[in-house]
Amino acid sequence: MKTIGLIGGMSWESSLLYYQTINQRVKEKLGGHHSAKSLMYSVDFQEIKILQHQGKWDEATKIMIDLAQKLESGGAELIVICTNTMHKMAKEIEESVSIPLLHIADATANEIVNDRIKKVALLGTAFTMEQDFYKGRLIERFGLEVIVPNESERKVIHDIIYEELCLGIIKEESRQSYLKIIKGLSEQGAEAVILGCTEITILISQDDCSIPVYDTTRLHAEYAVDFALREI
Ligand code: GLU
Repeated sequence: MKTIGLIGGMSWESSLLYYQTINQRVKEKLGGHHSAKSLMYSVDFQEIKILQHQGKWDEATKIMIDLAQKLESGGAELIVICTNTMHKMAKEIEESVSIPLLHIADATANEIVNDRIKKVALLGTAFTMEQDFYKGRLIERFGLEVIVPNESERKVIHDIIYEELCLGIIKEESRQSYLKIIKGLSEQGAEAVILGCTEITILISQDDCSIPVYDTTRLHAEYAVDFALREI
């Protein structure tokens, strides 16, 4: 079993789910008292959140590279970034270490393509919904058609992530806002919805939605375990 290196704390609410899912998956696959070999470097999210919102991505990239290198020198054999947004600098991180980085969009898109879904809605932070680093990968590498909410809806989605979900606050009215937006996207032809922020799964589940839901947190964590257990 390879040692999984997790860059976490963005936010710790979802890092908890990564830790739990990774260990559950190893137990399921290997049985007994097996559990995942892992290292997590968990950041102070306040510092990262400020850099993101001030557009100081170069500084954020330096921090992420440093964390990945620390995990590698600590014995990690693969890197998992426990947030969709911070895949913005995935390429730079990947180039700074000699161990593989398992991209969250690949973990998700593999499943979507397997399920023969072509047009998907993407929910996430404004960074993820509006910039190209995530959508572009889904379109170019996997041939998916990706739609996102309109501007005012994107603001609702983004604000709920940072002001509620990353702080562990769950509100029924926010769930209803998300569901209304998902319904609108499904009326625009989305066959499925990607929960493209690792905290959205705290608010929305498959049971709430009439279209298939792709939970990036679970899919990414499982992908990491499958990689860690694969024999080369
Ligand atoms: N965890 C979130 C994501 O998956 C947002 C927090 C962050 O900005 O990293 O994008």
